Amino acid sequence: MLNKNMNKIEKNNTFSLVTKKINAYKKAHPENNIVSLGIGDVSKPVCKPVIEAMHKAVDDLADMKTFQGYGAYYGLPSLRKLIAENDYKDFGFSIDEIFVGCGTKTDSTSILELFDKNAKILVGQPMYPIYKNAAYAMSRNVYIAPQNKNNKMAIPSEHYDIIYLVSPSNPTGEVLNKKELSAWVKYALKENAVILYDNVYEAFIHTPGLPHSIYEIKDAKKCAIEFRSYSKKASFTGLRCSYFVLPKELGNGIDEIWKERTINRFNGASYVAQIGAEATYSKKAQRIITKNMEDYRKNAELLRKGFEDLGFKVTGGVDAPYLWIKTNKDSWVLFDEYLEKLEVIITPGAIFGEGSRNYFRVSALGSRETCKQALERIRKYYEE
Ligand code: PLP
Repeated sequence: MLNKNMNKIEKNNTFSLVTKKINAYKKAHPENNIVSLGIGDVSKPVCKPVIEAMHKAVDDLADMKTFQGYGAYYGLPSLRKLIAENDYKDFGFSIDEIFVGCGTKTDSTSILELFDKNAKILVGQPMYPIYKNAAYAMSRNVYIAPQNKNNKMAIPSEHYDIIYLVSPSNPTGEVLNKKELSAWVKYALKENAVILYDNVYEAFIHTPGLPHSIYEIKDAKKCAIEFRSYSKKASFTGLRCSYFVLPKELGNGIDEIWKERTINRFNGASYVAQIGAEATYSKKAQRIITKNMEDYRKNAELLRKGFEDLGFKVTGGVDAPYLWIKTNKDSWVLFDEYLEKLEVIITPGAIFGEGSRNYFRVSALGSRETCKQALERIRKYYEE
């Protein structure tokens, strides 16, 4: 008896279809010179202080005096302390409220195990499609929120129990400001709902005044779980290490329930990755990470200006590594056109929801050279 809800997972508008199309093109054109603005992966290596710490961590495993085995189900206490003291220093969380995982993709979806099967889950459109698909796979009730006039998820007038918010957004690159975030917190408190706040792109926020955490909003500790990851800021996309805050103020002994759940379902993130994550907080590593973020930001600036000069309407790309661009074509048609005529890869908007067929996403996470080459080809294409 297979889980029939798996059939609800979108199969046509997916990242895997993008990969399939690229692979087919490469096979037919082995001499290709593809450049990609499609990737969500990083183009900076893991920085040296982190690599050095991980080399040492590997050596720890070679000697039973320093060996690390089972036990750190919720993360190494030393790492959780660093997270509480650095990422959340203004909010007074104890390490009991910090949980370490092996990626926000997993954390932000397995957290649904905490909540009743009948809970009404609200997701946005366009939005990172993983929440919706994971909720379907877990036989949950998923509802799609419309957009407001600012291209952000509209606050509903009906009741929902769980709300996924992602800011800075993948794919639109938009950031929720304090007023918008306060309105969501107010809704959640009124409806006794929980906000699952995916904040994996926090390190890309640089405009003064924008919130870096949902806990900057009064009483958010009573209704929000915040997720962050080392993936993009410290290039841990292959290493895998993430964290989230489960505030005690959510009530119902939720942190204790999650601990119980975790002991039964998870054996912790890899020791080596966690030691690497600890090293990201060193002064040396922080300097490199800040510089990397600046480089990506400059890529985004370049891309934004390039597409705007060509007459495209662009959002994002200021406090996020993604630009969301309007097109009058179907995004899959544009994807094929750019691939076949320019050997440039973009991400079709359709992947992020039916309403986004006339949009495409461009990523600033590639190298400067990639961004320049791709823009140059697109510019020439429209000039000819
Ligand atoms: N959340 C969002 C909004 C993302 O865009 C991504 C990756 O692209 C993830 C989560 C996955 O993060 P991780 O690598 O920590 O699993």
